[in-house]
Amino acid sequence: MRKQIVAGNWKMHTCLQEGTALATSINKMVKKEVNNKDTGVIIAPPHTHLSVVSQLIDTDRICLAAQNCASEAKGAYTGEVSAKMLSSFGVKAVILGHSERRAYYGETNETLMKKVNLVIENEMKPIFCCGEKLDQREAGNYFEVVKEQIENVVFNLSKEDFEKIVIAYEPVWAIGTGKTASSDQAQEIHAYIRKLISQKFGNEVAENTTILYGGSCKPSNAEELFSKKDVDGGLIGGASLKAEDFIGIIKAFK
Ligand code: PEP
Repeated sequence: MRKQIVAGNWKMHTCLQEGTALATSINKMVKKEVNNKDTGVIIAPPHTHLSVVSQLIDTDRICLAAQNCASEAKGAYTGEVSAKMLSSFGVKAVILGHSERRAYYGETNETLMKKVNLVIENEMKPIFCCGEKLDQREAGNYFEVVKEQIENVVFNLSKEDFEKIVIAYEPVWAIGTGKTASSDQAQEIHAYIRKLISQKFGNEVAENTTILYGGSCKPSNAEELFSKKDVDGGLIGGASLKAEDFIGIIKAFK
């Protein structure tokens, strides 16, 4: 059975002191308030916090993730952080293909393919993001956009490696805007993504793939979104920066 997951993407928020306080609160609250130990909880602090946060959390309950990694394995790439370095801090998952990275740092399918491979080679889990922009949604092109993003990157993996990934559908128009996709809109595209996976790798792989929704998910709408058959949890931005809100979203699973 596929895993239900709530993942927090802290983006470029919190200094080290704020980040350690947030991680400590989340850790405490997960242990105290989240009874369902099967729910996967992931936090993705900034790179600078990873080493310290890895010492603060109960890694049986919370998985540490990074928000990005370099597209090369090692070498003269000033300022970059490799997948191997992340793995050496206890990082178990890496968010890749976030729309902010695609838009502001020009990440292409080719770059993302390299990153996905490096993350898998270093025994971490890629959380692969896809999703359409507002004009593409309004033009009704969103199926094609998402298909292209998935087909040209993660469908190049072997079946065995594909089984290691999590997909996050994140409509760009809903990220950080306060505008959430309706649960029916989310279900429609999640079911479509699962169908694509089934056509490519078979029904069993499709049924076992976790597909997260991301885009202004908060405690007040999480229950409705997560009630949908093909929505297996959320990738959370803004609401992951407040421990109470993040825990409220985790508790939205029925
Ligand atoms: C995100 O950036 O992945 C995200 C979903 O952000 P927010 O929850 O703030 O919309």
